[in-house]
Amino acid sequence: SGTLLSGKTAFITGAGSGIGRAAALTMARHGAAVGLIDLMDGRCHEVEEEIRSEGGRALFVDTDVSNPERMARAAASVAREFGGQIHLLFANAGINGTLAPIEDMTPEDWDKTLNVNLKGSFLALKYSIPYMKQSGGSIIITSSINGNRKFSGFGMCAYSSSKAGQVAFAKMAALELARYHIRVNAICPGAIDTNIGENTNSTPQLDKISIPVNYPEGSQPLEHGPGHPQQVADLVLFLSSDHASHITGTEIYIDGAETLL
Ligand code: NAD
Repeated sequence: SGTLLSGKTAFITGAGSGIGRAAALTMARHGAAVGLIDLMDGRCHEVEEEIRSEGGRALFVDTDVSNPERMARAAASVAREFGGQIHLLFANAGINGTLAPIEDMTPEDWDKTLNVNLKGSFLALKYSIPYMKQSGGSIIITSSINGNRKFSGFGMCAYSSSKAGQVAFAKMAALELARYHIRVNAICPGAIDTNIGENTNSTPQLDKISIPVNYPEGSQPLEHGPGHPQQVADLVLFLSSDHASHITGTEIYIDGAETLL
């Protein structure tokens, strides 16, 4: 715990599980008031309760990040609850969606993945910026190593496209928002031990496109396995803080050297 983020309000999407949950707890423990955005499934209420039981300030707002009206209301609710402004945005909610070869991927499955991951990030910025631009701040978008450096799964044409789009979006946003002293960065985790696999749908046709790889899926030289949500939360804490005051418009890999294999 500490005071690195005291006086700050954070808006965190996908805060009910995995990376978002760890970041929410960490930011709250360092003094931030945290708005927790997730679907209504129970888990995010538990995060809200956990933070409050530790003496922190948290507000859960049940919101689908791909729904513009709900996101506009969520940003307004969080700002209203915590003094009118938002200083930190962690646009993190994401899904693997359906994994399938391109020829078998339905347009509906494609849209679902792009809507949650890429449009969800756009909406998070769009509706938070009005509450951020007076005092400046830091925005972090969760992309993935899949967005650029390494193809680490089969059937991820929609997922990888959404993740690459998030990096491009973060860079354009950094240029555009520099005049408000808002920094914007993308983070690109390798495999992290979270619940993201729970709602992944794989079609049987995936076998058609499997390519032999010479290392076990998800292996990382540093960890000999996936990384942990807390390790990503610590990066989010740093990027949120003034220690990162000259870091904007970049993508930061956090993958235990997985992309070098
Ligand atoms: P997770 O499933 O544990 O957590 C994601 C959270 O987002 C869940 O609580 C889920 O309910 C929420 N969510 C999903 N769809 C939503 C929607 N439409 N509206 C609001 N909330 C929604 O997964 P995670 O691994 O912590 O994923 C967080 C981010 O990290 C994602 O963007 C993911 O793509 C990215 N990522 C994960 C890994 C990994 O290996 N786990 C690697 C690279 C990038």
